[in-house]
Amino acid sequence: MYQPVIGLEVHVQLDTKSKCFCGCSIKFGQSPNSQTCPVCLGFPGSLPVLNEAALKLSLKAALALDCEVSKFIKFDRKNYFYPDLPKNFQISQYDLPLSHNGALFIDSESGRKKIRIRRVHLEEDAGKLVHPEKGKMSMVDFNRSGTPLLEIVSEPDIDSAEEAYDYLLRLKAILEYLEVSDCNMEEGSLRCDANVSLKSAGGALGDKVELKNMNSFKGVKQALEYEIKRQAELLDKKKKITQETRLWDAVKNVTVSMRSKEEAHDYRYFPEPDLVPFILDEDYIKKIRESLPELPQARAERFAREYNIPRYDAAVLTADKYLADYFEQCVQLYDKTKIVSNWIMTELLAHLNKRNIDIRYLELKPKSFVSILEMMDEGSISGKLAKEILPEALESKKEPRDIVKEKGLVQVTDTKEIETIVERVIKENPKAAGDYYQGKTSAFTFLVGQIMRVSRGKANPKVANKILKEQLERRGNA
Ligand code: ADP
Ligand code: MG
Ligand code: ZN
Repeated sequence: MYQPVIGLEVHVQLDTKSKCFCGCSIKFGQSPNSQTCPVCLGFPGSLPVLNEAALKLSLKAALALDCEVSKFIKFDRKNYFYPDLPKNFQISQYDLPLSHNGALFIDSESGRKKIRIRRVHLEEDAGKLVHPEKGKMSMVDFNRSGTPLLEIVSEPDIDSAEEAYDYLLRLKAILEYLEVSDCNMEEGSLRCDANVSLKSAGGALGDKVELKNMNSFKGVKQALEYEIKRQAELLDKKKKITQETRLWDAVKNVTVSMRSKEEAHDYRYFPEPDLVPFILDEDYIKKIRESLPELPQARAERFAREYNIPRYDAAVLTADKYLADYFEQCVQLYDKTKIVSNWIMTELLAHLNKRNIDIRYLELKPKSFVSILEMMDEGSISGKLAKEILPEALESKKEPRDIVKEKGLVQVTDTKEIETIVERVIKENPKAAGDYYQGKTSAFTFLVGQIMRVSRGKANPKVANKILKEQLERRGNA
């Protein structure tokens, strides 16, 4: 048996208006090279200037991740050649990251577990190569060049692919709560490299493999699962693990070798001479600390307390800022908090997961969502019907009340109408009625079932129960 050892390196694009060291916009999806200037194109003689917004967002994230923040901020050049890097170096931070020594808490099999954060630093992104005709030509788009990136490096405290997945979800939640990044993996705003090695019980750390190219959290999990298995099989055969970088192939579901350690770069870091180091004063950091919003864990605790829902519900609801916002908007309109939580956690989440919809883009607004719960309370629809109306409202984008009206689904609560049905059912089922007088409760259930059948499910069950009981009693006494 081997113990997996995993450390994650996450890059997130900061949600600033302009780039890290120039005034160009970082808006996604603009025409190639339309958002460039001499600085981000690396023209000789151009000079970078640090964007304070990028620094502020970085500090916010660092503080929320419990890091120690450095007061002395400096940048370094990471030198390498690549066609998407016109300067031949990337401005990053080397020996003095803006913060270090933080923590993130995840749920593990044995409960809450601390994953140490080694460092959080600020750097600039490179441009992007596009390959319209593979093997024939490549083109370069420098719009992304100079975009502020936050790099968040964990210690190798993660024990399984599951835990890595949980770590990423929680990290994303915190970053979303802070509004430092939109964390959109499809657009590349959040990228993750995973380092993994195996260790035998009591043994030292093994040589690690770095996995790249995963474009979803599920991809990270699958790549890790594959890699853990691959390494275990090699060790079983007494073979050595090569320290290397491997790429995840999401089509074939395998990792393939990209480069070995021998080919690893020597980046020849040195301090960036075009940017002066500067010193943050206490007050500056204090102000940022005070500006931090309520974070997922605090929000979960408040949900459990304020809305009187189980801790489990509170944890699920607050794991996504926008889901938590949705819940809070619902309970402001409808105060049965546990019912709202149940419906969101089961019916709504099932739908969102199935269709892969982000709650942010859900068209069914809280007001319409709670109207379904209100109709149940009013007795105009049954719980069963409500569960059918919700997916329909989500699909058709119609108002739940309109769906109920259009389909004539409104539950029959009219006592007269139900009385007629009950009379008919008792008459048609004399044996069941007789059994009821013998004290058989199943006979009562059977009769209710018949009433529902005759009314085609539209009879309000509460009213039907009451009338059936009354009529049976009356007959029994006669
Ligand atoms: P490198 O110098 O190759 O970039 P680092 O020591 O900077 O390696 O670590 C990079 C990442 O790899 C960190 O997230 C760290 O936690 C993780 N890591 C380091 N050693 C191991 C190991 N033996 N197994 C798994 N992950 C590791
Ligand atoms: Mg590294
Ligand atoms: Zn620019």
